[in-house]
Amino acid sequence: MALTIQREMAGHKRLALVAHDNMKQALVEWVKHRAEELKLHHLYATGTTGTRLSKEAGLPITCLLSGPMGGDQQLGAMIAEGKIDVLIFFWDPLNAVPHDPDVKALLRLAAVWNIPMATNQATADFLMDSPHMNKKVSVEIPDYAGYIKSRTE
Ligand code: PGA
Repeated sequence: MALTIQREMAGHKRLALVAHDNMKQALVEWVKHRAEELKLHHLYATGTTGTRLSKEAGLPITCLLSGPMGGDQQLGAMIAEGKIDVLIFFWDPLNAVPHDPDVKALLRLAAVWNIPMATNQATADFLMDSPHMNKKVSVEIPDYAGYIKSRTE
């Protein structure tokens, strides 16, 4: 079995917000509804999602590149580096997107690094209502040093 170590997440979380085009309005509405709680955290988003959210919900957001231009990959890299704590991704299950490999890679890395991830609104609500959202919490992540050691000895 793969070895794991503990990673501590602070009370103040680093949240990534992403929505596919057909889901962007739903995410804007959800963020407006949750604005007071979201203000307690540091928000990141892919380019178009983030630009709309900062204009329409008035929240400070760090915008990465647009998803199809590399933003999903940037988020995936930040997750692997332990720089994102929670992913809220209003993914479109009914339409194909040109950057499907990047979307899969993002979802995969969120699973590898065991971060809380919501891919629909109901789960996003469960996450926001979780007692863990605003307090320190420990999560298990892969033991990277052990992983390298096991492959090089
Ligand atoms: P966007 O990217 O916010 O730039 O539209 C989201 C996505 O990954 O599709």
